[in-house]
Amino acid sequence: MKWFKRSLDQQIRYFYLPIIVGTLLGMTLVSGLPLMRQAALMSVLVLGGLLHWDLRDGGLLSRLMYTRGSSYNLRNYLTVGAAFLLVTLLLAAADAFDSPLVMLYYIPIVLGAMRGGHTMSLLFSGALTAGMFTYYQVLDRLYDRPFDDANLYLVMLFALSLASGFIANRLRRAAVDLSALYETGRALNSTLNVAEIYPLVLNIVALDLTPDISALFMMDSQNNLRIQAHQGLDEKLVKDMVIENERSVLRQVADSKTPISLSSVPRKWQLAFAPNINSLMVVPLRVGDKLLGVLMVGRRHEHAYGYENLRFLEALAGQAAISIQNAWLYRQTKEWASRDALTGIYNYRYFSERLDHEWTRAIRYEKPLSLIMIDLDFFKSVNDNFGHLVGDEVLREIADLLQSQTRETDIVARYGGEEFVIILPETHFQDAYVVSEKLRDEVEKAVFTGGGTEHKINLTLSLGVANYPSSAASKSDLIYQADQALYEAKSKRNAVAAPAGELVDAAVTTADIPS
Ligand code: GH3
Ligand code: MG
Ligand code: MG
Repeated sequence: MKWFKRSLDQQIRYFYLPIIVGTLLGMTLVSGLPLMRQAALMSVLVLGGLLHWDLRDGGLLSRLMYTRGSSYNLRNYLTVGAAFLLVTLLLAAADAFDSPLVMLYYIPIVLGAMRGGHTMSLLFSGALTAGMFTYYQVLDRLYDRPFDDANLYLVMLFALSLASGFIANRLRRAAVDLSALYETGRALNSTLNVAEIYPLVLNIVALDLTPDISALFMMDSQNNLRIQAHQGLDEKLVKDMVIENERSVLRQVADSKTPISLSSVPRKWQLAFAPNINSLMVVPLRVGDKLLGVLMVGRRHEHAYGYENLRFLEALAGQAAISIQNAWLYRQTKEWASRDALTGIYNYRYFSERLDHEWTRAIRYEKPLSLIMIDLDFFKSVNDNFGHLVGDEVLREIADLLQSQTRETDIVARYGGEEFVIILPETHFQDAYVVSEKLRDEVEKAVFTGGGTEHKINLTLSLGVANYPSSAASKSDLIYQADQALYEAKSKRNAVAAPAGELVDAAVTTADIPS
């Protein structure tokens, strides 16, 4: 059955509608009605078909409407109105207003419900019931033609319009939710940056549930709920807020990992940062058994949200949780890939990427850029005397020291083995030289223990400094010059050296280098 595989639209167009129209035409022909009425009926059917086609396919009528700037809504009213008119004409042609055929009005009512929800179906059926009631009264009082079942049919039509309005609303709602969820998935998966995902989730919530307030809380490392994004809340009140109150409804959702929906929030559950919120839905953001955070939406008036809304929010939270988890994993993987496994500072890979970046910046903005290459002196003897495990620990201690003695903006990395490198963006040669001297001095003064062992290990560094633009002309030249300077420092050990031609401030060299 091939036609069955077609869309409902095509089925109606090619199958159901021709059958209905054909049957009606046939019935008209064999009805034995006077010729005039038959003609009227047929023209009604043909007109109906034309109007239907026109509205569906953007024929002359719809084109006229659109070019005059009419909205989709007007088109809906026109369609439904036309359907009402057609049924009325049909009934008039058949002179069947006082027969069970009035139930044909159910067709435009359903159409109205599908197009405009319960508002439209109630509007039309209200007008219809009132009109027909008047008509029957006139018929009865003036022409003495009572229609006994009038009230029965009117009540039936009205009840059916209520029911179809309700069903249509549900269907429309489900369709909106489905497309919102689909869009959510698409939007959320288009980025791996959590800072973008958090507000995006709230934007989607806002589109669908139009809350007065909404907020997203994530579990931090201490297992506290920390606010990450919000809408409609007072920034001053909620900035960096952490939910500590164990009795907070947010905390309860986090602990139980089950959603809560309150249609009239009791006083004890009122949120201090969001007073006057009477409808509240809080859902957990979870992936499997793992809780990532909670999502909260609220409305000022009571009973604002129903079961469907909660289900939608839960589904959305499920999507959001997966995206957030992905973004976290991505960030973590990226972080791991750029860190040295032994010392935890940046690795060679990250150093080299970052140097590319900083070099480009330095050239573009005409900023200085310094590089310090470091090699530990006689490190082999640490391994020989205390073993490699202690040697590893010492490398960690050195890395921590280098990190703590430099600025946030400096990039300290392990170049390999017991060699380190520091990128100093926007730093002139002289300043980099001072930093090198300080590091040399700090390491010389420090006593390393090899990770809490009883050992007291003394170490020294050799450092080579190079700078753009004072000595290096290219990125590789910068590395080469720092390396050459380091080689030169190695001839003395416990020393800092610079490329020939760099003017080293006498104050630094004489004061800081111990004799
Ligand atoms: P100097 O630099 O003063 O000439 O002497 P050195 O002993 O430090 O020699 P070199 O710079 O060639 O250092 C290489 C030694 O560093 C070899 C190895 O024992 C040690 N080393 C390199 N990487 C590691 C590491 O990851 N862990 C440990 N424990 N030792 C390492
Ligand atoms: Mg070495
Ligand atoms: Mg060495």
